[in-house]
Amino acid sequence: MKPLAKPQNFIQEIIENDLKKENYQLVHTRFPPEPNGFLHIGHAKAICLNFGLAKEYQGFCNLRFDDTNPEKESAVYMESIKEDVKWLGFTWENLFYASDYFDKLYDMAIELINKGLAYVDNQTGDEIRKNRGNLNEAGVDSPYRNRSTKENYLLFEKMRKGDFADGEVVLRAKINMNAPNMNLRDPIIYRVRRAHHYRTGDKWCIFPMYDFTHGQSDMLEGVTHSLCTLEFEDHRPLYEWFLKHLKTTSTPRQIEFSRLHLEYTVLSKRRLIELVDKNFVDGWDDPRMPTIAGMRRRGIPSSVIRDFCQKIGITKSDATIELGFFESLLRNELNNTSPRRMAVINPLKVTISNYPDYKSEFLHIYNHPQNKGMGTRKVSFSKVLYIEKDDFREEANKKFKRLDLGGEVRLRGAYVIRCDEVIKDDQETPIELICSYDSETLGKNPADGRKIKGVIHWVDASTAKKATVINYDRLFTVANPMQAEHLTDVINKASKRVNHGALAEASLSGFSPETVFQFERIGYFSTDKSSTALRLVFNETIGLRDVRQD
Ligand code: ATP
Ligand code: MG
Repeated sequence: MKPLAKPQNFIQEIIENDLKKENYQLVHTRFPPEPNGFLHIGHAKAICLNFGLAKEYQGFCNLRFDDTNPEKESAVYMESIKEDVKWLGFTWENLFYASDYFDKLYDMAIELINKGLAYVDNQTGDEIRKNRGNLNEAGVDSPYRNRSTKENYLLFEKMRKGDFADGEVVLRAKINMNAPNMNLRDPIIYRVRRAHHYRTGDKWCIFPMYDFTHGQSDMLEGVTHSLCTLEFEDHRPLYEWFLKHLKTTSTPRQIEFSRLHLEYTVLSKRRLIELVDKNFVDGWDDPRMPTIAGMRRRGIPSSVIRDFCQKIGITKSDATIELGFFESLLRNELNNTSPRRMAVINPLKVTISNYPDYKSEFLHIYNHPQNKGMGTRKVSFSKVLYIEKDDFREEANKKFKRLDLGGEVRLRGAYVIRCDEVIKDDQETPIELICSYDSETLGKNPADGRKIKGVIHWVDASTAKKATVINYDRLFTVANPMQAEHLTDVINKASKRVNHGALAEASLSGFSPETVFQFERIGYFSTDKSSTALRLVFNETIGLRDVRQD
């Protein structure tokens, strides 16, 4: 094992020290999601950290489903999590399920009972809560705290057999009802819950609690460094208490780091489920969602997410990252990697009066003007074209570097055209331009030295594809929606704009979902999974530049 030259964060420092002391032979981490929702970009931070460290130290990282809450978990979520981790570019060494340890965890509970360190409590949930006390008040012992080992053993057996109703009894660890750390005031370790589990079916009607599962799962798997977010810091004494009092085969170490908070998003599965269930978004993979599936569908490359996670670093202090930081990484990457194409969002017809009626030619246009290595594509050109409505004004001042009546403009990768006449409807709105083209200007400036001020994009009417273009805005109107009492108060009701009237150059068809292009002069767009040969559908990944004022 080769230690790193220079630790990048405090966790690496801890690992380096552990390696020096030869506490560990091999660094072994895990990513332990609960399959109760789709992963979001916060999880990506934990994924990059766990898999990244395993790679740095030539150890390994497992994927473990922390699946001990039958009501909320499902195989659909599990499958989505596997897909998302793979898409992020990581490969797990082993796939584990906490639910596979139910038998072992049951035996561990018996081990504690036999050591006089666990008891069955018949108090109601309310009584247990009340008798726990609070930070200023000691807890009150349960009247059932001093049951004999034998009685506890028999009662726990009965719990397992289903002799108790849900919530009627619980198994608690016998630690200290006066502990300053509330988590040590005889925590519940098993509860009765008749619910179908997506993996174990109806085999169990008792389920271990998170705290009783996590550390022991780490131990059973031989995890060396169990990395979790800061809210578990107060649980660490409990994590260590269980491992101290149970027979163990390894000693994992829990280390906490701060969660990712990102402006204008909620990074909590509970909150994201609300958005899905209340139809504020079109499912977990809606391109506005901060889920990995949503970001993927939007066309965000996994490399950008990894880069972002690496750049924000790992610390113990809670900070909210500016969305602009993520967006600048995204723009940078897409600017370098995405091929250029032309699409007209709000088409205005252009007829080239001096272009032969039945002629059509193929122009070779570079896919990336700054990267000629990306090659060229063939784009058809003929008598009838479409340009952007916004790129024409009947009368314009000198600052308008596009097309006006009597003025000239270059069509990207094609000829210079001049607008000779405007045809309008009853409302005086231009509906067609009659233009003429200069056949000597393909790939060169006019011979007589005329200065052409602007370049605009266009599509050929004879080959263009109908396209739906969907633009997205932030899902929330405030930078910190987590602080709002109700998400409904801060949701941006105009976060999705659908335009069915766009036209795309023919070479934009036939791509698999998530392929990203730069639509010249407009922004970055990705092919949606609903795209067909008859109608292309694109999601806006991000605009060319940030036009916001805030
Ligand atoms: P949520 O609140 O979204 O449900 P969670 O922590 O309950 O999140 P888990 O499935 O239990 O979700 O999380 C799996 C791992 O991902 C845990 O180790 C957790 O600490 C980590 N994680 C979850 N959210 C974030 C975040 N915002 N930033 C960093 N790590 C996170
Ligand atoms: Mg959780």
